[in-house]
Amino acid sequence: MKSEFLLEVKNLHVSIGDKEILKGINLKIKRGQTHAIFGPNGSGKTTFINALMGFSGYRVKGKIIFRGEDITHLPINERAERGMGISFQRPPAIKGVQLQQLITAANKKDGKLIAKYANALNLMDFLKRDINVGFSGGEIKRAELLQLIIQDPDMIFLDEPESGVDLENIALIGEYTNHLLGRRVESGQEKTIKEQYREKRKSGLIITHTGHILDYIEADSGHILMDGKFACEANPREMLHTLKECGFNECYRCFRKEEDHDKK
Ligand code: ADP
Ligand code: MG
Repeated sequence: MKSEFLLEVKNLHVSIGDKEILKGINLKIKRGQTHAIFGPNGSGKTTFINALMGFSGYRVKGKIIFRGEDITHLPINERAERGMGISFQRPPAIKGVQLQQLITAANKKDGKLIAKYANALNLMDFLKRDINVGFSGGEIKRAELLQLIIQDPDMIFLDEPESGVDLENIALIGEYTNHLLGRRVESGQEKTIKEQYREKRKSGLIITHTGHILDYIEADSGHILMDGKFACEANPREMLHTLKECGFNECYRCFRKEEDHDKK
């Protein structure tokens, strides 16, 4: 039977060198669901999605199940072929490779789509430029989004898609992130965003520091990553509201109390 979960993460431990960064993460994402991750700087958010995508340099224990298949030790290209895609927090600049060349290599669909979405994301003038070389923060994030839209993955990892983006462009990033996740941008509002997501059955995992992207994205669930573990899961908007009022210090207090309780 086909699993209702697109992604399942079971007791994931990730180390870099001798340092254990993630200490037992469990997560299940249903088809069509989007989850958000919050957490203090350095808590391991980027490490988590990079390890899920299969980047080298991480020692991984536990299990990553994608569409019911154990992919824990598959290389990154095979995960991409199976339908995983990522937008980086800080992608590298690549001299000598034009943005258009990369996108054309990833384009499995109609060639006209590149022009359509490059135009929509105000990136037509960037196609012939070397990837990210001299791009501003916002231009980098729009270029990441364009690459993902063309790749069209089913499991979408976004690492701080709004960081460095000015307010005007956040709306654009939000609109096309919605599109990426399956919402038809041009359609009327006769269906709720959630219903449209479910039809496309694409799933998202979004790391957000500011939470601004959640003004545009209908996220189903929020998690707080602390000390290498998920401290709690709740409605992401309520979570963000509480975080804005109390900061992560209150989460630490609550998390430690729960840990102490579990030990007893
Ligand atoms: P976040 O995205 O939550 O800010 P990261 O996943 O980037 O956190 O980093 C988690 C921890 O892992 C940090 O202490 C960071 O310095 C450390 N770290 C990340 N990458 C490396 C690396 N290549 N070598 C050593 N330490 C690393
Ligand atoms: Mg990070």
